[in-house]
Amino acid sequence: MGKIKVLPDAVANQIAAGEVVERPASVVKELLENSLDAGSSDIRVEVEAGGRRLIRITDNGCGMMRDDALLAFERHATSKLSSVHDLEQIGTLGFRGEALPSIASVSRLTLETHAREESTGTRVAINGGKMVMCEEAGLAAGTVITIRDLFYNVPARKKFLRSEQTELAHIASLVTHYSLAHPDKSFELQHGPTELLRVTPVGSAQERVFQIFGNRILEDLVEFGPESKTLSTAEGEQKQFSLSGFVSKPHVQKLNRNSIYLFVNGRLIRDKLLLHALTSAYHNLIPPACYPFALIFLDCDFGEVDVNVHPSKTEVRFRHSSFVHDFVRDAVRGKLMESKPVSSLPLPASHTQPGAGLQFSEFTQRIENAAPDLYDPIVPIAPTAMPREVPALRLEMPRGPEQRFDFSDTGSVNPPARMRIPDTHGPLPPGVASLNDYESLGSLGDLRPIGQIHNSFIIAAGRDGLWIIDQHVAHERILFEQVLRQFARREAQQQRLLMPMIMELTVGQQLEYARIADELAKAGFETEPFGNRTIAIQAAPTGLGPGEIEKVIFEILDIAETELRKSSVEDLRRNIAASVSCRAAIKINTPLDHQKMEWLLVELAKCEYPMACPHGRPIALRYSTREILRGFHRI
Ligand code: ADP
Ligand code: MG
Repeated sequence: MGKIKVLPDAVANQIAAGEVVERPASVVKELLENSLDAGSSDIRVEVEAGGRRLIRITDNGCGMMRDDALLAFERHATSKLSSVHDLEQIGTLGFRGEALPSIASVSRLTLETHAREESTGTRVAINGGKMVMCEEAGLAAGTVITIRDLFYNVPARKKFLRSEQTELAHIASLVTHYSLAHPDKSFELQHGPTELLRVTPVGSAQERVFQIFGNRILEDLVEFGPESKTLSTAEGEQKQFSLSGFVSKPHVQKLNRNSIYLFVNGRLIRDKLLLHALTSAYHNLIPPACYPFALIFLDCDFGEVDVNVHPSKTEVRFRHSSFVHDFVRDAVRGKLMESKPVSSLPLPASHTQPGAGLQFSEFTQRIENAAPDLYDPIVPIAPTAMPREVPALRLEMPRGPEQRFDFSDTGSVNPPARMRIPDTHGPLPPGVASLNDYESLGSLGDLRPIGQIHNSFIIAAGRDGLWIIDQHVAHERILFEQVLRQFARREAQQQRLLMPMIMELTVGQQLEYARIADELAKAGFETEPFGNRTIAIQAAPTGLGPGEIEKVIFEILDIAETELRKSSVEDLRRNIAASVSCRAAIKINTPLDHQKMEWLLVELAKCEYPMACPHGRPIALRYSTREILRGFHRI
């Protein structure tokens, strides 16, 4: 007799569970997706002990008829597709028919469901994959699924679970982000006796962001879209892509990717291609090892994206991937360029009124405490993460712990309502500035310079408030864009050296040099090989002091060697331009006369991206009139 046998269903289900059910949050994800697929408008999630003891999801969707309630636990039983052809056009979140049987095989599950077409509901109980009860029951329309003791029969898996707080943080993050993707629906998340989230239906994603995070976070974000782009395929078809969402202003710099949420046709995914598109949009706006906060919703023809890539359905493959990549990169970059967001100065804590900003911190704090690695707060990056090249002289501004003024808080809102926890804000109150209303860097040209602090920071008066501009990074940005333009037009401004400068290279540097010599020439460096592992520099871009020419070339060769091998010519040019402009820019601790300050501001205003230097430092901070008035208790 042969050795191969077909595995019993119970074993097959547990194997599938290994892929589909990694932790309590994956159960929540599968059940949430089922509720959304069932057309629910009201979804409630209850968990206990971080989801290990209990997960219950209650929805008001279509429910299941008696026969379906039993069939749903068979392997590969689904109402969402019926042929291979359907697999190419998946419009639902689920389609594999694997989740319910997998979850049921590793927990004690109860399903209570009532379809409107039937007069009564059905209650089914399954323990470790074995049905222990099936009965008729009087139930409200919709579905309640209760999962107790996850992994009670898979001790190996149970051991891998992290702390209750960490598991809870994963769940909270998931529910929060699904609720952001579906602002027209109600979501609730309850952990034991604590309500973590409750949001009612609102008309826009912006209002949902406000409900969840409060007004403060809106100040840190730029909203974009919906923007559409049509792809003409090789087969002559027209495919429409649409993009919308929120991305953070460049002063928000996160040290990991946990704050990037990508949704494709309503599905939360992790995707390297989209992640790359997003980080390229921020190239030279934030430091290389930093990431923005982003909520991105991409919608397209179902046939354009293959969602059947991984059992947990968190990865996708795009049919026209480079089109999608460039669309996302250009849309985000274009929006950042257009809105030219300015960073505002934080105020001392003592000036804020009690209750202001409470909602945001209450909610996020709870999640942050749970898993700091998963949900780190949106704060400007610590100064230590900045490039070390620039001397560190800092303004001693008094800083409160994380406080900013809330524009909604102008006295009309009654205090008890504002103090209410949890953090459920309802729709945007009247008078709250809409996302893109804040004064932008577009007004830089109208500023009137007043003087310098520490010979390093320009103080200027604007139409709306007081501005502080870092002279070094401002000049760096101006030069950076100038060098890039010269690259494009191939007309770099050069100065010839009186004596050629001879540089010795290592073997690695020599190889890189051969590869990038052409681009160096376009930037204004006239160089030529000069014997073994030596080059002679005849000319360099204007503005570079003799001591800096060598440093710039070494810097570029080093970057080329470490990170540029796989990147594009455009990236190489940007790196050359960044290096040249950093060395040639006015240093801090340099006195400037009035005319020079004015020149700097006018030139900065002409820049495409005046918000950050090529290494990602902010250039200007604004202390708005409103904040000044508040500081003096005039409003
Ligand atoms: P899939 O979602 O891939 O179809 P599942 O195992 O998650 O597979 O669910 C099996 C089937 O059970 C679904 O196709 C759907 O018909 C039904 N179902 C699951 N959850 C719900 C729900 N909350 N409301 C209504 N029907 C549901
Ligand atoms: Mg499903």
